Amino acid sequence: MKNADLLKIAKSYGDPVYVYDAEKIIGQFKRLTNAFKGVKNLKLNYAAKALSNITILRLMNSLGSGLDTVSIQEVELGLMAGFKPEDIIFTPNGVSLEEIERASALGVRINIDNLSILEQFGSKHPKIPVCIRINPHVMAGGNSNISVGHIDSKFGISIHQIPHLLRIVKLTKMNINGIHMHTGSDILDIDVFLYASEILFETAKNFENLDFIDFGSGFKVPYKEGDIETNVEELGKKLGKRFNDFCAEYGKELTLAFEPGKFLVSEAGYFLAKVNVVKQTTSTVFASIDSGFNHLIRPMLYGATHSISNISNPGGRERYYSVVGYICETDTFGNNRRINEIAEGDILCFRNAGAYCFTMASNYNSRYRPPEVLWHEGRAILIRERETFEDLIRNQVDVKDLFAPKKEKILVK
Ligand SMILES: *Cc1c(COP(=O)(O)O)cnc(C)c1O
Repeated sequence: MKNADLLKIAKSYGDPVYVYDAEKIIGQFKRLTNAFKGVKNLKLNYAAKALSNITILRLMNSLGSGLDTVSIQEVELGLMAGFKPEDIIFTPNGVSLEEIERASALGVRINIDNLSILEQFGSKHPKIPVCIRINPHVMAGGNSNISVGHIDSKFGISIHQIPHLLRIVKLTKMNINGIHMHTGSDILDIDVFLYASEILFETAKNFENLDFIDFGSGFKVPYKEGDIETNVEELGKKLGKRFNDFCAEYGKELTLAFEPGKFLVSEAGYFLAKVNVVKQTTSTVFASIDSGFNHLIRPMLYGATHSISNISNPGGRERYYSVVGYICETDTFGNNRRINEIAEGDILCFRNAGAYCFTMASNYNSRYRPPEVLWHEGRAILIRERETFEDLIRNQVDVKDLFAPKKEKILVK
């Protein structure tokens, strides 16, 4: 998006504000679809938790995407956004049997990731097909918080437990219609991914009635120019061919599924915030913005380095800044960033603000969560309003007479 358009949006809707470029999302969807054009049945299930605004979900549905969900509420959001139940897959971790049964009753596909629930669900509902999430124990992913396929991970059923899994399936007579893995975010090495896929193919041979194999997600996207990103075209060629060979061997045209979150929406997002204060200290220059980890926590939570630029003064002399928030705790967005000279009142733009940004926002420090604006065909469309004081107190129970102010002062002797 152009600086001028972003500045106009910040002016119209106030700051801070999230902006999403619909055309970028559509482009990424097409790019991934195209990369796998050699596969007959491809299904992309957008991972709702990356960005779950209902208009974004509707956009995904219009593109022919399915939806990957991790909570019953995401399932309900997906249905509200017009997804057909069969186009939604429920892939939770550590949720109760009741929640899985509720999702299943809504008609969505179920993905189970532990033997305890598998045995209970299979015993009660042997007729309902179930997908199983396998943990191939392959180390992939950008850092240990987002890498979920390794040996210590809480996700998935260990490949070492396949004999136990098969016993449960046999005894309950349940039907396994899909197998799944999600090894974590930020796949850098396609060969590691292909290696994990081999484990999935090997596991798949144990099941006769599969409809699909789901390879999860974890595509790495660039955060700045020159960054390494997952080469989805190369992955499409290599995995696509291997998948087709497997289908031939298996004797059935299976569906190849993915659940991209970050890949589809990360680069489409911009977070705009205003500089309240420029503070020169003995050691650095701080630029304090009207936001904090209440709105964008990824830099503090797992060291994500969002690029930050000054769109109010793009031609200004570059200087080093520490960009910080207004939260009464250390909340550094970036240290020693070279940014065009900042004046108070300038608008800073954070890139890659589409995935896991708004969805992780909170009301900490009793601040409002920002609005969300969709940029589509040269038009700005408000898709979430800024919160108000009403929103902050909506569910609070104000028991006014419980602690009425005392007439006499309590004196501490
Ligand atoms: C979070 C998640 C995804 C999406 O991962 P990205 O790295 O954002 O693409 C996909 N599948 C499952 C099961 C997830 O939990």
